[in-house]
Amino acid sequence: PFDVLIVGGGPAGAAAAVYAARKGIRTGVASERFGGQVLDTLGIENFVSVKETEGPKFALALEEHVRHYDVDIMNLQRAKALQADAGLIEVALESGASLKARSVIITTGARWRNINVPGEKEFRNKGVAYCPHCDGPLYKGKRVAVIGGGNSGVEAAIDLAGIVAHVTLVEYDTHLRADEVLQRKLRSLPNVSVILNAQTTAITGDQKVNGLTYKDRAGGEQRRVDLEGVFVQIGLVPNTEWLKGTLELSRHGEIVVDAKGQTSMPGVFAAGDATTVPFKQIIIAAGDGAKAALGAFDHLIRTTAP
Ligand code: FAD
Repeated sequence: PFDVLIVGGGPAGAAAAVYAARKGIRTGVASERFGGQVLDTLGIENFVSVKETEGPKFALALEEHVRHYDVDIMNLQRAKALQADAGLIEVALESGASLKARSVIITTGARWRNINVPGEKEFRNKGVAYCPHCDGPLYKGKRVAVIGGGNSGVEAAIDLAGIVAHVTLVEYDTHLRADEVLQRKLRSLPNVSVILNAQTTAITGDQKVNGLTYKDRAGGEQRRVDLEGVFVQIGLVPNTEWLKGTLELSRHGEIVVDAKGQTSMPGVFAAGDATTVPFKQIIIAAGDGAKAALGAFDHLIRTTAP
């Protein structure tokens, strides 16, 4: 069995692998797609000490760093279940195989919920964005829309209003669902307008985004807003469906972890976007992965191998 088996090969999993391997313990990484969300990212400018890089390049650097150590990397492997088994933890894979380990670190990440309208896929990274902390500065002085009036949408609109020329917040419902304190802050900003009861029907553009169309749900008319960017903020979904009923999850499906990354099952740790750790960012996921590996090591030295 592995001493530490990491499920997921994004920034959190890669950092956990480096930290575990450097303890001289038997380490494995099973992941569907090594690199994770970073593979879908164009430019990265907020990983401190790396002024700017590209997602695929960053993903390759993650893998190279892990391969520098004696780590068993198992790619194209999707985990489907987890269970405690006679002092070990067993991870069942969709391939039919299963892996055993004395401790497991889950770093299966998350995915942005898509709005699924024409233009969203076509203009991804060409005006369609999901992360204001990442891409906000690219729209300095431009006009953007934020789709979604929950906490993350309203937070994004407030954040972006400080950078861009104008923000249009588009909400499907007849009211915003964000906390009142955020709504009050939003209403105080001079360069934000809010459109309620509006169903986004398309994101339009040529080479890049040039507008958004929506249906006024009260009257039924189609309307259009001219702009240069659209931030979709209708939810981040953790890749934890396979853990329902096994580990304690938050109401958003995030794995509940303590300060050392320990989950509700002894010997099982978790890190990064799949967990309750606030703020989903590369540098945070990587730091969190390192922390969970040290948590797992701490667990191993306090327990005896079965
Ligand atoms: P992920 O990167 O999501 O990795 C999850 C890993 O788990 C993958 O290897 C995946 O294949 C694997 N996996 C999932 N389910 C299973 C399963 N059942 N079995 C086995 N393996 C599984 N952050 C920044 O800091 N700066 C940016 O500029 C930035 N830009 C972004 C742009 C885009 C388009 C996106 C989508 C995200 C961006 N982010 C950015 C966010 C950042 O990518 C994430 O916060 C970070 O990748 C999270 O790392 P993670 O390791 O927790 O999860």
